[in-house]
Amino acid sequence: LHAPYDASNIFAKIMAGDVPCAKIYEDDDVLSFMDAFPQTRGHCLVIPKAASRNILDTDPDVLARVITKVQKIAKGVEATLSPDGIVVTQFNGAPAGQTVFHLHFHIIPRYDGDKQKP
Ligand code: 5GP
Repeated sequence: LHAPYDASNIFAKIMAGDVPCAKIYEDDDVLSFMDAFPQTRGHCLVIPKAASRNILDTDPDVLARVITKVQKIAKGVEATLSPDGIVVTQFNGAPAGQTVFHLHFHIIPRYDGDKQKP
């Protein structure tokens, strides 16, 4: 969980502009873009611009700003797609399901009767 940050991860490349993304929001603190393999329609991600692998090694002040932006973006998702529910989640460490080692929050809209497929 506490390995050094590795800047070769795909989200660092997206932030650097070296890999394209479908951006939905950006400010000084965060970048938000659509998940490339969405679990449902509207599945997007929010990442801090500051480098950290996971929630455990993130500066608390950064984290406070990021989660506030997660809420703001989730409200935008609700206003845009009118889902019936919204999952906000994140994973820390490979055994927990983390595959990209730059902190990120998933915002996953859920729809009555959906099967968690796009
Ligand atoms: P986690 O690390 O929390 O399991 O999830 C990583 C998420 O990043 C997955 O939902 C995956 O679909 C998404 N993802 C992986 N590679 C890319 C990429 O190159 N672009 C985008 N937009 N999403 C990606």
